[in-house]
Amino acid sequence: LFALFVGIALVKGGERFHAVRSLSQQFFDIMMMMITWVMKLAPLGLFALLAKLVATEAIRVLSRLAEFAVVVTGTTIFHGVVVLPLLLWIFGKMDPITFFKGTKTALITAFATSSSSATMPLSLKCAQENLGVRAQTAGFVIPIGTQLNMDGTALYEAAAALFIANLMGLDLSLGQQLIVCLTAMIASLGAPGIPSAGMVTMIMVLQSVGLPAEAIAILLPIDRLLDTVRTVVNVQGDMMISVVVDHHTKAPEIKV
Ligand code: ASP
Repeated sequence: LFALFVGIALVKGGERFHAVRSLSQQFFDIMMMMITWVMKLAPLGLFALLAKLVATEAIRVLSRLAEFAVVVTGTTIFHGVVVLPLLLWIFGKMDPITFFKGTKTALITAFATSSSSATMPLSLKCAQENLGVRAQTAGFVIPIGTQLNMDGTALYEAAAALFIANLMGLDLSLGQQLIVCLTAMIASLGAPGIPSAGMVTMIMVLQSVGLPAEAIAILLPIDRLLDTVRTVVNVQGDMMISVVVDHHTKAPEIKV
């Protein structure tokens, strides 16, 4: 809130606060430079994490990780192939084959980039040109959906938190499991549409039931792989909702 007001005051003040504005810009540039260094080091860090995991925890953790990957991928695919198309059919009155044919370019791009934001221009194009969604609906629903609507991420974060609890031998009560699901939904709202963003907001989910945030290190090595499928479902959800909203906001035809 403070940052928001500082920003408003900077804009209102115009040239008077030029020095503070350029200081903020330079500070931002410094942060970006440091982040670039960290990103360059990340593959090595992941290699070290994975090497340590294999050397110390051996096959037990790895086979559990593989099981987790299969379960998460399976449920995410189920959500994308069964649940979402069913909702589209019921609420948007569009058959799933038409939907998948029209959106395949965006879905493949989401898979390849693991980024809803990078895919957004294509999602807009597919929705408007191939699914016949009006420009004003697509232009409103898809950008908001890209930021806020992430079914795949919510599903992943909830499953990951339960997996970590299970791995640590913690028995979560039903109430705690519901808290996990709820915070996963909220955390997915906050995740930006970039690769592995879900890993960051997942800290909130873990902490909601007292699990250590460091536990995400176990999932880091396989996250990039799982991110591909969940991003596809995130993007699919955005386009699907645009169809549903468009269907319900179209003015009824007037018969003369
Ligand atoms: N990569 C996802 C997206 O862009 C976000 C995430 O779950 O990490 O939609």
